[in-house]
Amino acid sequence: MELKQILSSSVLARLTLSQRVAVLTGAGVSAESGVATFRDPNGLWSRFRPEELASMDGFLSNPERVWQWYQHRRHVLDHVEPNPAHRALAQLEALVPEFTLITQNVDRLHQRAGSRNVLELHGNLEENHCSRCGAPYEDEINDDQPPRCPACGGLIRPSVVWFGELLPADVLLHAERVARCAEVFLVVGTSAEVYPAAALPRIAWESGATLIEVNPSPTPLSEIAHATIREKAGIALPALVQLIAQLRTTDGME
Ligand code: NAD
Ligand code: ZN
Repeated sequence: MELKQILSSSVLARLTLSQRVAVLTGAGVSAESGVATFRDPNGLWSRFRPEELASMDGFLSNPERVWQWYQHRRHVLDHVEPNPAHRALAQLEALVPEFTLITQNVDRLHQRAGSRNVLELHGNLEENHCSRCGAPYEDEINDDQPPRCPACGGLIRPSVVWFGELLPADVLLHAERVARCAEVFLVVGTSAEVYPAAALPRIAWESGATLIEVNPSPTPLSEIAHATIREKAGIALPALVQLIAQLRTTDGME
């Protein structure tokens, strides 16, 4: 990838000198690991109705079906690995003084690749909690049906944010602060249609950040981005991070 030719000199300067870099990732960053996205033609929502599988109403009307679907998604994760995009973002963290990775993904592949400063906007698939009293649940689970809470008897559910639910307030506030302070804001593999996550790149842009999008397809953000890299994340990000490393080394020697 000849990124140096795609990127303007002001974008290159920002990549060379910025102290604060933030990234927002979506399902596209895990696509090359073999984890299905939601809104692409072959995505998960094309085969299932979101409100049946990812909402409190859907869960209460058929807890077994929803639980089994999440168990299936968990088993998929046992057989996939982080891809070069996840690994490149973990490397980028080491190159930048203040780095925050904000993700909509629930698969924990960023952490498995070595990223440390990760904000999970939509929770994660690894944990469970009580749908009634909120207590975390760490006992044995099986694939067939959700367990019951030992404290209140409520149904145990996966700790992901469902349609119609609020994002964890502390995480969202932190992410908004990061977006306001970022000098470079990278958006990778998200359709930028799910709010409030999709507002973060706009907040960063309004606060003066250089906005860079990595996505093979256009999104509502493409119009305002200072640079768009129309390429798969697994190709674009290793090239971009290598370029940033080179720019910073050269700069340091001058
Ligand atoms: P989305 O399915 O709406 O959009 C995926 C985007 O990724 C699209 O814009 C597509 O063009 C792009 N894309 C596809 N392949 C790509 C690649 N190889 N490299 C770069 N980009 C690529 O996903 P979203 O925007 O993250 O939607 C948000 C919702 O999806 C969240 O609620 C999130 O929790 C959920 N989700 C998470 C996972 C996961 O954890 N891996 C998987 C599916 C959905
Ligand atoms: Zn309970």
